[in-house]
Amino acid sequence: MDAINSENKLDLLSAGREEIQTLLCELGEKPYRAKQLCAWLKKGTPIDEMSDIPALLREKLKQYAFVISPEILNKSVSKIDGTVKYLLKLDDGELIECVLMSYEHGNSICISTQAGCRMGCKFCASALGGKKRDLTPSEMLSEIMTAQRDSGKRVDSVVLMGIGEPLDNYDNVIKFLSIVGSADSLNIGYRHISLSTCGIVPNIYKLAEEKLPITLSISLHASNDEKRSEIMPINRKYSIDELLTACRKYFDKTQRRITFEYTLIYGKNDTLDDADALAALLKKYFGGKPFHVNLIPVNPVKERGFVSGKRARVNAFRDRLTQRRVNATVRRHLGGDIDASCGQLRNKQSSEKGR
Ligand code: SAH
Repeated sequence: MDAINSENKLDLLSAGREEIQTLLCELGEKPYRAKQLCAWLKKGTPIDEMSDIPALLREKLKQYAFVISPEILNKSVSKIDGTVKYLLKLDDGELIECVLMSYEHGNSICISTQAGCRMGCKFCASALGGKKRDLTPSEMLSEIMTAQRDSGKRVDSVVLMGIGEPLDNYDNVIKFLSIVGSADSLNIGYRHISLSTCGIVPNIYKLAEEKLPITLSISLHASNDEKRSEIMPINRKYSIDELLTACRKYFDKTQRRITFEYTLIYGKNDTLDDADALAALLKKYFGGKPFHVNLIPVNPVKERGFVSGKRARVNAFRDRLTQRRVNATVRRHLGGDIDASCGQLRNKQSSEKGR
């Protein structure tokens, strides 16, 4: 088997059952060991802690295979709502974050898809240090497994909305999605998975062809090209028209309701005229079709200088959209006391290190 050599160990979290069986067979082990091993892998257990596997076999396994298990470098628990934010250190020292949120209907996790991000959105902390590298499917899985192991909670839904741009790490994200939904792994249904993108248009078309019933979220944040390009450099490559045309194609193909994220930045995109323009824009592409607008008062990031308006101004924006018959909600702000907005913790850690 190709994966067996000392440089190229088998990455167990993304390996299929067959590959695992082949490995064990080549190590001269009985088939039932595969079942034992897979049961541990579902939980993301490190090889050393697989207690019903003999120590000798564990040592042998470590020569040929590995389980990604990031180190929890920092864990902040919100006193307000119990949201837990993890700062994780990967094997090569890269830092990522994930956030575990508990709702009445279950536990949701927000995961990172890249170490850093190269999209350069002006209000976002993740973009500050640029992109370091893509995460592997196993690293994405390990974020969920680490949070589950640490908290003792079962994760019911996943949002790809942490550090990084999922559609800039397309193949790994698709592989991750195929594993996370399988009964051999975490068994989380596609309908409980959301992917958020700043709008890499060709990959929205590609995603539509995958026929995965996940929810697509679009980070829109402005309703004309001039404003959007100012805060989101990706808009200079793919205009709002190209983006929303792709979104409409995505909807027509999948029939899945799209969510539009709109970060409210005081004085930049949060006036009632902006709300009118947003309603008109979305109706132009989605008139008569279901879609939803998620309003997010911007989380101030020290280096960025943007602030959000007062609650009344945010609510007035929402009410204006509602009057225009656009479904909109203000996102519940979880973990406000723990820098739970993506990239904030990693950024803090890196800049403290650099001081
Ligand atoms: N790259 C993807 C996913 C990561 S960002 C994307 O752009 O969608 C996840 C969401 O958080 C996006 O909607 C993003 O625009 C928003 N976001 C980033 N920084 C923020 C901040 N400081 N305040 C509020 N929302 C922010």
